[in-house]
This record gives sequence, C-alpha cells and structure tokens, in this order.
Amino acid sequence: MARLGGVETTAARDVWHDLGGGWWRLTVPDPYRGANVYLLVDHGIYLVDAGHGSPEALAFLVRALQARGISPGSLAGVIYTHPHVDHMGGGVLLAEQWPQVKHLAHRETVEIARDYPGWVERTHRCVPDALAGHYPELAGELTSPATRVWAESYYLAPGSLEVVPLADGQEISLGRTRLVVLYTPGHQEKHITLYCPQRRAVITGDLLIGASTSIQLFTGGNVGQYYRSLDRMRRVKADMFYPGHGHPRPLGPALDLAEKTVHGQEEQIRQILSAGPLTAAQVAGKMFPRLPPAPGILLTLGLVLSHLTHLVEEGAVKVEEREGIRYYCLQPHWDGGGAG
Ligand SMILES: [Zn+2]
Ligand SMILES: [Zn+2]
Repeated sequence: MARLGGVETTAARDVWHDLGGGWWRLTVPDPYRGANVYLLVDHGIYLVDAGHGSPEALAFLVRALQARGISPGSLAGVIYTHPHVDHMGGGVLLAEQWPQVKHLAHRETVEIARDYPGWVERTHRCVPDALAGHYPELAGELTSPATRVWAESYYLAPGSLEVVPLADGQEISLGRTRLVVLYTPGHQEKHITLYCPQRRAVITGDLLIGASTSIQLFTGGNVGQYYRSLDRMRRVKADMFYPGHGHPRPLGPALDLAEKTVHGQEEQIRQILSAGPLTAAQVAGKMFPRLPPAPGILLTLGLVLSHLTHLVEEGAVKVEEREGIRYYCLQPHWDGGGAG
C-alpha cells in the first residue's frame, strides 16, 4: 500500500517541469490541447491559471499539487491570465474544494467570475450558433451534433469565484520576486500578462502561444487590440515567455512571428477581396480550401471573421448586403493600415 502510494506520488511529481528558481510548469489535460499552470514558489506560493474546469482536470491539478506538498493552507493564491475555461475553469472548481485560497484576475473579471457558468454559456457554448449567423452557407456544418460536441465538452459544474481585482501596472509581491500586471487584450478582452523583472520573463497566457494565438470575436478577441498588446510586449525588458499552451521560449522571435502571422493573414484577406466582393464563407474557403473538422472549423472561421471585422473597423473593407446576403468589399482608395 505504502509503496503503491509512493509510486503514485512520484508519478504525480514527475508531471511538473522545473523552470528553475522555484518556478514550475504543469500541463493540465482538457478536451482540446491541455493548458499550462505555473507554480511560483517564493515566500508565498502562487499558481498562475488553474487549467480546465472539468472534474478530471481538477483532480489532476490537485494530485499534482499534493505531490509537491502543497495543501490548501500553503497556497496563497491563484492568478488568472484571462477567464477562458481552460485557464479559469479549474479555479472555479478548486474554490469549492480549497475555499481558503485567494483568486486574483483583471478587475473586469469580477462580475464574470461571480456567474462563471453563465458567462461560459454566453460565450463559449454559443459559438457554433453565433458563427452560423455569419456563415449561413456553413450553418449546417457549424451546428451539427459533431461540431457541438466541442462546445458542449466545455460544460462546467456550477460554481462561482470571488476575485481580487487587479489593475494594469499593479505589483504582486511573491517574496523575493514580484510580478507586474500588464493589461494585454487581443486574444481576450480581460487578458493580463504577468511580468517578472527579476527573471526577465513574462507569463503570457494566450496572448503569445506559438506562431500566433487564436483571435476569436465571440470569446472576447479583437485583432486591433492584439496588435497593440504585441507592441506593448516589445517594450517589456524580458527575454523569455511562459505561454498558456506549449513550452517556454525566447520572447523577441515569438513576437516577430506572431505579428508576421497575423499581419500575413490580413494581407491574404485583402488579396482575396481584391478580385471582388465575397461572403465570409467564400473568403474562408479561399484561405483554407479544406476546412478542418471541429473544433478546428470553429477556430478557423472565428479567426477569419475576427480579421474581417478588424478590416471593416479600419475602413479597409466595407459590408454590403444584397438580397439578405452579407458581402465584404475591399475599399479601393483605402490607404491606412499596416500592422497597427
Ligand atoms: Zn484563451
Ligand atoms: Zn488557452
């Protein structure tokens, strides 16, 4: 028995990646790709994000914490990069099991966290229907049972979270080190990045996760804000970033790649529209001749729509409605834009 328990504890400890200096990374499994939780051990012990809000994901997190000797009494708090279910969902469930733990997030998430399942319902679970409204030609596919499985898989047990509000520029002392809160919307409108000057590192949530992030209107994304947040990250004195998904990497090249990718997507849409007005589904079909199955189709069509919306906001594209069908038309004399 004891031996078996010992083996289990060792295995649960092994899931943590040592980042040095008392920081650790854990990938909590979820129905999609798994999300990172960071454990910061200083005079106080903090987590950044808490993984997905399913009972299985929470059990995984709690087991991993216990394997590091962390108990409800020793965990000072959980700081959230943004309220998406794969980052804050686990915290809503953790709050029920470990009620003494503090939860900190951008101040505009206070209301969201109080009615968290309601917010998830209004954002994530409505995505197939909301997209179907913009892509009527693809409505059948978007609202098919197979596609809905993904949105439904994000179902959360009811719960609510009392959040300590954080503001841009605020400092959180961990003991020897401190974190500076930077408001960085784009992937999501309440998104923060945590800058640690002592480590010259940033914990970027989903602002920066690879070649680029997914920018999704219906879950709070905005392409214009995303560009501005990337610009802001360039002014931060950091060498490394710790993403919400995937491995830590050097910051500078990742910022270049993210900007190039997002800008390239916008350029491609302009090129496609230069041949004449098209519906959103026609634009998506030219960009992605083979649309992936769910959940990829939701992310792909969401990204295209986010770009079209930004191009309309910028004045580069206008919307014309003909016989009830929405067409996107390139504005021939438009000369603004760039990567801003
Ligand atoms: Zn996210
Ligand atoms: Zn995420």
